[in-house]
Amino acid sequence: MADRVLRVCALYPDLMNIYADRGNITVLERRCAWRGIGFELAGATVGDDIDPDVHDLFYIGGGQDRDQALCARDLADRKREALHAAAGRGAVVFAVCGGYQLLGHGYELDGERLPGASLVDLETVREPGERLIGNVAIEIDLPGGPPVLAGFENHGGRTYLGEGTTALGSVIRGFGNNGRDGREGVRGGPHGTVVGTYIHGPLLPKNTAFADWLTATALGVDPSSLSPLDDELEAAAHRAARRAAGV
Ligand code: GLN
Repeated sequence: MADRVLRVCALYPDLMNIYADRGNITVLERRCAWRGIGFELAGATVGDDIDPDVHDLFYIGGGQDRDQALCARDLADRKREALHAAAGRGAVVFAVCGGYQLLGHGYELDGERLPGASLVDLETVREPGERLIGNVAIEIDLPGGPPVLAGFENHGGRTYLGEGTTALGSVIRGFGNNGRDGREGVRGGPHGTVVGTYIHGPLLPKNTAFADWLTATALGVDPSSLSPLDDELEAAAHRAARRAAGV
């Protein structure tokens, strides 16, 4: 049996999985397998309780507004406390696009306000105007993480970070959180382990060093302690995503 196990819980895998975001989980699973690290995957959807102590990484993918509406209340009422407890002990909460929006206080659209988990201080608003769509690259600064993330974004909501809230990165190309302030994503929580981003594509196959950062952080080890893998293809995919973004 593997002496280390990454225990992942996918939240709303049936509803929040646009743009093949499930591929992100496959990347985590494969890289653990190649390294001899155990991997456990659980799922929790509307109506399910979650245990903050039995997972190292919670994942929420992207979703359309109507899918978000189906799970926002459940997230805020039924899972919020457990997610705060998990982040409080250093578990990773990682969310993409629609999931990212729900990490904050709320998502306002069409005169309605979907509640969020309030794990980080941010608000999302569906303002009049075009959707923010295209290739994106951001510069990030994570201990032992990669310098650049590249991928694709497609969101109608604009996200605004509260004062003192740290972005995941700064936009090199693309729109980022709102197309205005040059910030992309969020990194917060008591241990800096709550991470959200608008980047899909899915994100992790093209940014495996970031996948490793998430894995290492969830396991409580330094990313440099993970054994190296042959990432030739993944590095080519990363370069292609950067080129697509013009970086
Ligand atoms: N429904 C959200 C929006 O349009 C998120 C979309 C997504 O996850 N791609 O802003």
